[in-house]
Amino acid sequence: MGLLPSIWLTIDTDDVFHHPKFQGHPKRSKSKNKETSISDDLKLSFSQFEKWHLCNLSMPITFFVIGEQLECNVFKSLLVNLLSNSKKMGGKITIGCHGYTHTCWSAFTPNPAGFKKDLMKAKMIIKKSVGDFWRSWFRAPGGYIAPWMAEILNEEGFVLDSSINPTSFLSIKSGKVQKKFRFNGWKAVNLAMKKAGVIERPWLTTFYPALPSCGPALHIPILKRFAISTWKKYSNTTYANEIDILNSNTEITTVYWHLLDHSKKKGTWIPPLSRT
Ligand SMILES: [Zn+2]
Repeated sequence: MGLLPSIWLTIDTDDVFHHPKFQGHPKRSKSKNKETSISDDLKLSFSQFEKWHLCNLSMPITFFVIGEQLECNVFKSLLVNLLSNSKKMGGKITIGCHGYTHTCWSAFTPNPAGFKKDLMKAKMIIKKSVGDFWRSWFRAPGGYIAPWMAEILNEEGFVLDSSINPTSFLSIKSGKVQKKFRFNGWKAVNLAMKKAGVIERPWLTTFYPALPSCGPALHIPILKRFAISTWKKYSNTTYANEIDILNSNTEITTVYWHLLDHSKKKGTWIPPLSRT
């Protein structure tokens, strides 16, 4: 069907205080927001997402969850209830890993031991909380991925990474930021993942020029217009199933938004996918 590759829908469950301006980044984190309990916006987002999801059960969807969120009992029960309600109705939600903490690893000096420990803790708590919904799939917090992380992902049993934002704009930027670590942007990451045997699933960008079209780009003026029209091009394509996602010979298109987005516009925001 369709001329375009099938689409993989993914959501990051970050709360307000996980934003790099609050924590996890050596330069961007200005305020010490020590908050750890779930925000009202994220609570609202759970219920608004569920309403949308139950009307769109044919769309499989993967959540990338931050391990430490599951230490909050309210977050944990909202997630577990969502999974069980969805399953009862025939929904297909899977859960991947967005770190134990929301650390922007590649913005720091390489820290393989720290990253490994973070992954181990994340896996343990997420698996324990969601059971069969768990998949060994990873998304780097803030998209801060670097080649040295690939082998550690493999060692920790991760078979898939979805952290690359292959925009002309970002590869220039990250190439600059990472110069002192001899890192040439997302192409080097892609190669490292291949060597480590980890499937890479980059995010959708706009076509020409390649601009970001996922996550925050869905809400930034101007970028938003391009992002939404790019997403709409996928309205008639099929949705990627697990076999497609895990087959590196199958081309798929990965899109992501934040669970928190469902609190925008007084809780009426929905992702720009016109098919129901
Ligand atoms: Zn995040």
